[in-house]
Amino acid sequence: MVLKVAVIGGGIGGLVAAIDLAVAGCDVTLLERQPTPGGKLRVLGPQIDAGPTVFTMRWVFDEIFAHAGTSLESRLTLQSAKILARHAWDDTETFDLHADLQQTADAVGRFAGAAEARGFLEFSARAKTIYDTLEKPFLRAQLPTPISLAAGAGLSGLPGLLRISPFDTLSRALAKFFTDPRLRQLFGRYATYCGSSPYLAPATLMLVAHVERDGVWLVKGGMYRLVAALGALAEHRGVKIRCAADVSKIELVHGRASGVMLASGERIPADAVVLNADPASLPQGYFGEAVARSTPAIKPAARSQSAITWTLRARTENFALSRHNVFFSPNYKAEFDDVFGRGHPPDNPTVYICAQDRDDDSPAPEGPERLLCLINAPADGDCKTHTEAEIAAWTKKMWQRLQACGLQVHPPETPPEITTPQEFNRLFPGTGGALYGQAVHGSMATFRRPGAKTRIPGLYLAGGATHPGAGVPMAALSGRLAAASVIADGGSTRR
Ligand SMILES: Cc1cc2nc3c(=O)[nH]c(=O)nc-3n(C[C@H](O)[C@H](O)[C@H](O)COP(=O)(O)OP(=O)(O)OC[C@H]3O[C@@H](n4cnc5c(N)ncnc54)[C@H](O)[C@@H]3O)c2cc1C
Repeated sequence: MVLKVAVIGGGIGGLVAAIDLAVAGCDVTLLERQPTPGGKLRVLGPQIDAGPTVFTMRWVFDEIFAHAGTSLESRLTLQSAKILARHAWDDTETFDLHADLQQTADAVGRFAGAAEARGFLEFSARAKTIYDTLEKPFLRAQLPTPISLAAGAGLSGLPGLLRISPFDTLSRALAKFFTDPRLRQLFGRYATYCGSSPYLAPATLMLVAHVERDGVWLVKGGMYRLVAALGALAEHRGVKIRCAADVSKIELVHGRASGVMLASGERIPADAVVLNADPASLPQGYFGEAVARSTPAIKPAARSQSAITWTLRARTENFALSRHNVFFSPNYKAEFDDVFGRGHPPDNPTVYICAQDRDDDSPAPEGPERLLCLINAPADGDCKTHTEAEIAAWTKKMWQRLQACGLQVHPPETPPEITTPQEFNRLFPGTGGALYGQAVHGSMATFRRPGAKTRIPGLYLAGGATHPGAGVPMAALSGRLAAASVIADGGSTRR
């Protein structure tokens, strides 16, 4: 008998789970409430990437496409970025992080002195060690525990465990490699890749530095091409993708997931259900009372950050944008105190800009260019209603930071499209707008994410709020782990 699987949500985790399940011979229906799949990976206005823009760990997708009998490069044109990101603190200080290790070390030397350049090389070596130690026993493993991790990574005893720096915070660990506050800020920003504060996140997150060095990829035609390629592959392998299909209930028979019901009242029976919506939506009853106890509730204080984003087309001047640009605030600590402590967007925010029409060092395009601007914000979209005046004030602060760094953005013909935590909460129910699941704060935080299996037989989780964590490749790995669990349980979950 062919196993029938319903996947709720067409984010990266849902699409990847659906592909692997279809390849394994399952009869898969993917149900997405929006008109198009992609979830956080979305485009707004004139084809502006409004979600993830930094594409790393391409090996994850190489493996997924190969497993499905094709190749990533036959479906997507990727170019490796030579400049990983351009950083500015004011209108005189800029610093480029290069893909090439020695080129970056030389740049650090010119920017902050020889001792910092040596610190950078030591930091990079440590980041690689952490990544190499964790790839198999953590990233690729079903819900590891500290014990299984230590065993799988050969972390015998305290010296072994210290290799991955789990007990330090990222900011404290960075202070051992860098004295220059700008470099501590630059590498501390990696905590925000999973919506966390560098002052609370474990130093293990240094591994992001290695992930980026291993390759940041520019996707020709924009990030959404990745969703298009995954969707096409899924359909090619027989997945039925149904958009505008809002799932309102996960049905149980004798305590086992037996299918889903759409808001329209239509029932779709299934032997297994994979939930790609944020698992925080389950305990809040978004999929019915029967499954509400399948995962523990997440306290709002444990949520990762949300964001405020502006997507626009505008002419820019006075600052040579690269693809990825960061305009740092003068007081990074205050930013995270605002977001996680005082519960409001930073008074003086760091601004990230993706200039989608630029490559590494390409000149400004003629006329307006596509920009995504982003600042951090608390995930309070389900309990606060932000006024027009507040949104205008954040917008002003964001422009002020850019101006302080010399970047002039001319008024766009069409006003920017602004996404607030409230809108993120509407798009991703049950989250408050948290974009990365639970914050990774404290040495045990990474083990607190739910795994692929829930307490309900036949109900599985996939996505960036699930193990192994947030981000496009991690959500994809989570989708693979969910599919593997469904397949492994295949016989026992059949109706
Ligand atoms: C602004 C922004 C910038 C980011 N930058 C980066 C970056 O540069 N690099 C990176 O790697 N990551 C980045 N991320 C994170 C990355 O986008 C996510 O971790 C990843 O895309 C999450 O995928 P997912 O599988 O969890 O699915 P999601 O994207 O969360 O999608 C879940 C899907 O489920 C659907 N759904 C929910 N409820 C229902 C229902 N009842 N019925 C049917 N469907 C439902 C939703 O509509 C959605 O399509 C960024 C995210 C954002 C928002």
